[in-house]
Amino acid sequence: MDICYTVKEVRTKINEWKKQGLTVGFVPTMGYLHEGHKSLMEAARAHNDKVAVSIFVNPMQFGPSEDLKTYPRDFNRDIKLCESVGVDLIFHPEPSEMYDDNFCSYVDMNGLTAELCGKSRPGHFRGVQTVVLKLFNIVKPDRAYFGQKDAQQLAVIKRMVADLNADVEIIGCPIIREADGLAKSSRNTYLSKDERAAALILSKSLDLGKKLIEQGETDAKKVIEAISNNIKTEPLARIDYVSAVDFNTIKPVDKIGKSVLIAIAVYIGKTRLIDNFITD
Ligand code: AMP
Repeated sequence: MDICYTVKEVRTKINEWKKQGLTVGFVPTMGYLHEGHKSLMEAARAHNDKVAVSIFVNPMQFGPSEDLKTYPRDFNRDIKLCESVGVDLIFHPEPSEMYDDNFCSYVDMNGLTAELCGKSRPGHFRGVQTVVLKLFNIVKPDRAYFGQKDAQQLAVIKRMVADLNADVEIIGCPIIREADGLAKSSRNTYLSKDERAAALILSKSLDLGKKLIEQGETDAKKVIEAISNNIKTEPLARIDYVSAVDFNTIKPVDKIGKSVLIAIAVYIGKTRLIDNFITD
């Protein structure tokens, strides 16, 4: 496995592979890797000759009062996890390698980012889009893998790739959960024992919403209300949003039909957690 710290090192390796006609699958991450990341790497491993993973806590996608400084990092553990999946290359740049002093170009969009995390975290998706397009230009992958855990991000990246004709296939992968239902996240490490127990309210409330829909409920307001009321039964939880939107456009819907994203963001203590499901 190659570990690259500079764009030049990555390009040399990727060009070598491209000359041999090999396909490259790419998994962008912020590190502190867990089973969710691993599932993306396994999908990339199954469908491509070579697998590249980036590990980069991207300062541009964090707001001024967010957790950039405290975001968990453990590069040595990450290396081991990548090795166990048979990853071929890790790109682990310093922020200065990605953003030099004169950096001033950004990728942004008008649609898809007005709701959900785009609303709560202004500038977040501009940072995500900018870094992901940069990474695509550096790694030149045939396919890139993103988790449905960050469903709005997945929709934004798909739209960006279509709008800007990036030559890469975007593959969405299912949410990986702990045995008790909590969606795996690097940020789960912030939770105290009590908060960890309280965090179960996210998946439990979504399950309740899913059940209502399965029983025939199509009124988005009623489903949102039922999920919200259930979250409010947990004293440590504070709702950021509970929304029902079209998964492709991220526009709010009144009626729940196919491909509706039911997404929630909830603070458990100081930790903001997200979770969702998409209707069939
Ligand atoms: P992050 O390191 O949080 O930026 O995540 C990197 C990628 O892993 C993103 O595409 C996430 O959606 C994906 N991911 C994170 N957690 C999970 C999970 N529990 N299940 C599936 N994919 C995940």
